[in-house]
Amino acid sequence: MWKSNKLNELKSLYLESLYPIYTSEEALQIINILINKYFGLSRVDQALDPDLKLSESEMLSLHFAVKQLKKNVPLQYITGEAYFLDLKLKVNNNVLIPRPETEELVNLIVEKESGKKLSLIDIGTGSGCIAIALSKKLNDSTVYALDISKEALEVAKFNARTNNVNIQFVEDDVLSSKYTFDSKFDFIVSNPPYVRNIEKQQMKPNVLDNEPHIALFVNDNDPLKYYAAILEFSKLNLKTGGRLYFEINEALGKKLMELVLGYSYAKVKLHKDINNKDRILTAEKNS
Ligand code: GLN
Repeated sequence: MWKSNKLNELKSLYLESLYPIYTSEEALQIINILINKYFGLSRVDQALDPDLKLSESEMLSLHFAVKQLKKNVPLQYITGEAYFLDLKLKVNNNVLIPRPETEELVNLIVEKESGKKLSLIDIGTGSGCIAIALSKKLNDSTVYALDISKEALEVAKFNARTNNVNIQFVEDDVLSSKYTFDSKFDFIVSNPPYVRNIEKQQMKPNVLDNEPHIALFVNDNDPLKYYAAILEFSKLNLKTGGRLYFEINEALGKKLMELVLGYSYAKVKLHKDINNKDRILTAEKNS
């Protein structure tokens, strides 16, 4: 079955076979990550031992991973891990792979909220990336995280445990939530589903065929429905003077701004991401 059991030779074959999907640099990086993860070998280790041979089971694991890569499965779902800021997180296809834009959201919040003892909630927590990062960076804050998906909450709980943070998890649908918490929050953060169906054509198959649609998509005719629901939730659960931090669809910033202004908020502001697109909306509750 195998053309060779030499790592070097197998590697060239795999690199070639990935070429239609990934550039040669990407493919090399991905294969090296897999070799490191599966066999504990760095690039230097590989270079020092050019004749290194793999066992049958090692070849099988690499073969299986490449087979999935060829089917557009993202590397993070194959290895089961992703990095978010300085955190290592477990991921599977019940949660989105954390995005760099969301790191920017967390960085902005830390900049604005550091140094206070706060209570906050992350709505639609998925892997828990936002809640866990904030729990680490805003010491002594009380952190809640809500999601509709039991499977996502399992991943988020695992990630909270392995990153040594204490988060209160709530299973609930924000679209119909009547939940009132014991005390109101200082701020609410959310990266809800915001990609419209009309935007699907621009998405790559690795996202479209693998990541959870429940976490990504909204109807074209009601694309802000999660934000509207969070604004209702905030009536009950956000302090006067409390803040909202939303990750947003770059095309819907102005519309969302109008929606938020309809709810008695001040300092409603759009912030651009690293690609100069409207990606974050912040606001402060008046009353
Ligand atoms: N930014 C994500 C993407 O490009 C979408 C995240 C979301 O819908 N909340 O796929």
